[in-house]
Amino acid sequence: MTITLGPLRIDPVAELDHWPFAPADLFPAVTPEHLGEHRGDLDLSITTYLVRTPDQTVLLDAGNGNAKERPVLLAHHQFDAPYLERMAAVGVVPEDVDVVVATHLHPDHCGGFTQLVDGSWDPTFPRARYLIPSEEYAWLQQVHASAPDGGVAGDLARTFEDSVLPVVEAGLVELIDLPYEVTGGITLRAMPGHTTAHLIAELNGGGQHALVSGDVLHHPFQFANLTLAQGGDADPAAAAESRRTLCELAVERDALLLPAHFPVGRITQDGDDFRYRPATPGGA
Ligand SMILES: [Zn+2]
Repeated sequence: MTITLGPLRIDPVAELDHWPFAPADLFPAVTPEHLGEHRGDLDLSITTYLVRTPDQTVLLDAGNGNAKERPVLLAHHQFDAPYLERMAAVGVVPEDVDVVVATHLHPDHCGGFTQLVDGSWDPTFPRARYLIPSEEYAWLQQVHASAPDGGVAGDLARTFEDSVLPVVEAGLVELIDLPYEVTGGITLRAMPGHTTAHLIAELNGGGQHALVSGDVLHHPFQFANLTLAQGGDADPAAAAESRRTLCELAVERDALLLPAHFPVGRITQDGDDFRYRPATPGGA
């Protein structure tokens, strides 16, 4: 499904179409009332967005990447997905990518920064500038420096080591402050809470708008439960505020929502509540 906004061409590139989680594993405080009509596992996906402007190819989120060791975060462990083949199917090879941005430095968003080549982690996109907010980088660097003894922090430290550090050492990382204009029609804006400096990308072209929203929300049932924390939210209160801010922004601009873990859709407002509907039949 190619999306066109004036001069911008946007192609969702999915790394994984089905990524099931028990509701309580994602949302520790979830109740049947929160879930409404949803039964069984929550079926997420992992989707990244390739944006081509007249002169730049920009990748927004990079997926888990293959072969990463995540012994604690087992849902992220040892992927073997045909992600680069899917990117090739929309006409882009890694050498074409000019800019890579992750909405945040969790493994399913920045793991794809690198790939395993002859036993070493090499940048997947060898010509790209990798843009990382200074605050987000400082947070993950600190997790790594604390030398955690296992646990989720251990897998985050591994993420720094195998996915972030190699692109830094290759001289490809540019630390940025938000907001930041990547190129005409693509601006990064802070939407914190899930992580320290989680960002969204605002896409504007031909008078139309889209928002690449990363993990501000993880599943459509959250639209009716904006204050329900996701287990990975670093600052649950800020994350809840960001969910509302994102919804308001999407409504205000009549923007298409381009999430990381559920289908592209639109948000409408009904009084104080927000509703989501997928943009493609059969989605969500
Ligand atoms: Zn995620």
